Amino acid sequence: MSLQKKLLVVTDLDATLLDHNYSWAAAEPAIGQLRTYGFPLVFNSSKTLAEMKPLASALDSGAPIVAENGGLVALPENGGAPDTREYAIDVKGLARQTILDVAHGLRAREGYQFRGFADWSTAELAALTGLSTEQAEASGTRLATEPIRWDDSEANRLRFADSLATQGIRMLKGGRFWHLMGDVDKADGVQAVRQYYEQREPNVAWQVVALGDSANDTAMLEAADIAVVIPHAEGPRIQPEAAHVRHAPHPASAGWNAAILSLLAEI
Ligand SMILES: [Mg+2]
Repeated sequence: MSLQKKLLVVTDLDATLLDHNYSWAAAEPAIGQLRTYGFPLVFNSSKTLAEMKPLASALDSGAPIVAENGGLVALPENGGAPDTREYAIDVKGLARQTILDVAHGLRAREGYQFRGFADWSTAELAALTGLSTEQAEASGTRLATEPIRWDDSEANRLRFADSLATQGIRMLKGGRFWHLMGDVDKADGVQAVRQYYEQREPNVAWQVVALGDSANDTAMLEAADIAVVIPHAEGPRIQPEAAHVRHAPHPASAGWNAAILSLLAEI
């Protein structure tokens, strides 16, 4: 018996599915076709679940959501209307509280100078990030990662990072903050959603297509069956080592649209 082939699309958001103004309008033709075929569209971003839920609702995606750089996977629990959809949360890395206990314990004992999301009020976070109050609240609703601003020397940061590492906590440089998180990445999210769909629809040959633009997407692209690199204006920023790598012809949502449409035309 030959298996039915389906695409499972796993995508980064910023500068991949979304343009700099958070619009996915140019990707709507491809999103519509995925919906018509019943091919799942999974978000896999460093954003929080609270930040991504409204987008899943707007796109009417009933798929799981991978949040906080693979730190957690949210599985939809009911098939109801998008705005009432509930998710079962599976923390893949370390719980944020565990990370906070270790990091704040080190700060208290060693006198390290840093502040993080757990130290700031929503208003302070909004002022620091330029987010609206509502966005800052959604961004602060973290379950598996803690962003911090390091206000101490580089030598002390290395000592701090070493101490964290002994507790299984990584310290990764993000755009504006350092991110403290467990030993997981977006590739763990790919594994989790692949398993989820293989269990739900075992008679399907799932082809995982991952799309991303930057360094924290590389592992996700390498864990997929088909990797799609979304370029920036100056060209691609990453070179995943995978058997099937494609390069979208344009940055962000327009490139996303073209890449998915051409894959759909082939199957
Ligand atoms: Mg991105």
